[in-house]
Amino acid sequence: MAAPLISEVLPGFLEEVVHLLQGSGAEPLEAQLRALRIESMCDCGDENCASFATAAEVKVASVVELQAIEGHLIIDLSADEKICFIEVLGRPDVRYLLDEYRESLK
Ligand SMILES: [Zn+2]
Repeated sequence: MAAPLISEVLPGFLEEVVHLLQGSGAEPLEAQLRALRIESMCDCGDENCASFATAAEVKVASVVELQAIEGHLIIDLSADEKICFIEVLGRPDVRYLLDEYRESLK
């Protein structure tokens, strides 16, 4: 089964991230974000964590920290400027949707 698009599982969150990109200097990431798939969810076990990988291989070369109103949102980029991981902390709403999605696969 193909990994789901972020836009399928977290449509509201995706729009929030795109909105936060405005004025950050990282606006060009929008097109990439809209086509990204949730390859795997973070397995750190922290209940505040709703982070997920968007590439099969996560090698972080730089980060874009967004000024989120709630929680912490950080976009991790690999050396070739591809988004490989999205760090989401303190966002129970995102965690809930990810858990629901994971449950739906069972
Ligand atoms: Zn985690």
